[in-house]
Amino acid sequence: MAFFDLVDFDNHEQVVFCSDKATGLKAIIAVHSTALGPAAGGCRFWDYANDEQALTDVLRLSKGMTYKNAMAGLKLGGGKAVIIGNPKALKSTALFEAFGRAVNNVGGRYYTAEDVNITTGDMATVNQVTDYVAGLDGKSGNPAPFTALGTFLGIKAAVKFKLGKDDLHGIKVAVQGLGSVGYDLCAKLHTAGAQLIVSDINHEALENAAAEFGATIVELDEIYSQEVDVFSPCALGASINDDTIPQLKASIIAGCANNQLAAEKHDQILKDKGILYTPDYVINAGGIINVSLEIYPEPYCADEATRLVENIYNTLTTVFTTAAEQDKPTGIVADQMAQEIIAKANL
Ligand code: NAD
Repeated sequence: MAFFDLVDFDNHEQVVFCSDKATGLKAIIAVHSTALGPAAGGCRFWDYANDEQALTDVLRLSKGMTYKNAMAGLKLGGGKAVIIGNPKALKSTALFEAFGRAVNNVGGRYYTAEDVNITTGDMATVNQVTDYVAGLDGKSGNPAPFTALGTFLGIKAAVKFKLGKDDLHGIKVAVQGLGSVGYDLCAKLHTAGAQLIVSDINHEALENAAAEFGATIVELDEIYSQEVDVFSPCALGASINDDTIPQLKASIIAGCANNQLAAEKHDQILKDKGILYTPDYVINAGGIINVSLEIYPEPYCADEATRLVENIYNTLTTVFTTAAEQDKPTGIVADQMAQEIIAKANL
């Protein structure tokens, strides 16, 4: 494989392939950039169809963390890890200790944390053999409330920019996904006077949102076509795609889900349709901002986390304004801004 020529390789500083025969550990640790500080990003445990898929995933995710951390104003670079295999069959204390030794061997250039199929308990095991772990129980705690706050402020910034309104009173928002972040976001939107339309596969969450926030419940595939101001993807990736874009009546897309656009071209398609897309890795950075404060030498401080999360409003306003001035899609402008921050740090 012409590894260095892969599009997703994108000048990664370091990619480490780790294995441990005794425990069945097969993992890849990718450090995209340490220009702003040690690389930070979660570890995903996934049963990939083949090793190439795992490599592509970890490279894309770690580059994404470089951009996310840069735009969040953190003194952290971007990295990510994947453990390859079926988590149900492979998870063991010994395997996570082996993974922890692999992280330790990277020597502090990479900090790991939870991602898909990894619990805080798993990370506590990793922490037995390395200090290069964040997002531990009893430290910065659950990141979801910080992600919800950042997403709420991102919606406010988008509404101000697109609709010229300072407050959310009477603004209609369709929220797809009422999980840890989505439900908390709904609470904030309701308190701010927004009207909610919601969908989820979890009926209990839907009924609670109807009772607590007066939310209107719709079927899963009806959420896209609602007559709303804001469509807020808070469940799955790739929910903005060739099928769903033609259904949208919202003039703003702003939610916490990762990788909302199914393909890069959708950034331009949304712009052409006059829909303001709020770049996902900027609006959903609240969680990593909170976790990051565990990594810095200063003791963790929730007030500092909140202050940094509040800055998401200003960062997004700059993205929207620049995109309008340059007549470019917002996703491209966010990438450019992140690249400039990293380039300056490299001077
Ligand atoms: P979660 O698992 O708690 O919630 C996801 C919700 O989506 C669940 O209620 C689930 O039932 C629902 N859902 C699943 N399929 C659906 C469908 N087809 N239609 C509607 N709803 C559906 O996850 P979360 O922590 O709230 O995260 C939500 C999204 O935000 C994810 O994409 C996650 O990667 C991203 N994100 C989360 C954080 C965080 O701090 N938790 C940070 C950054 C990004």
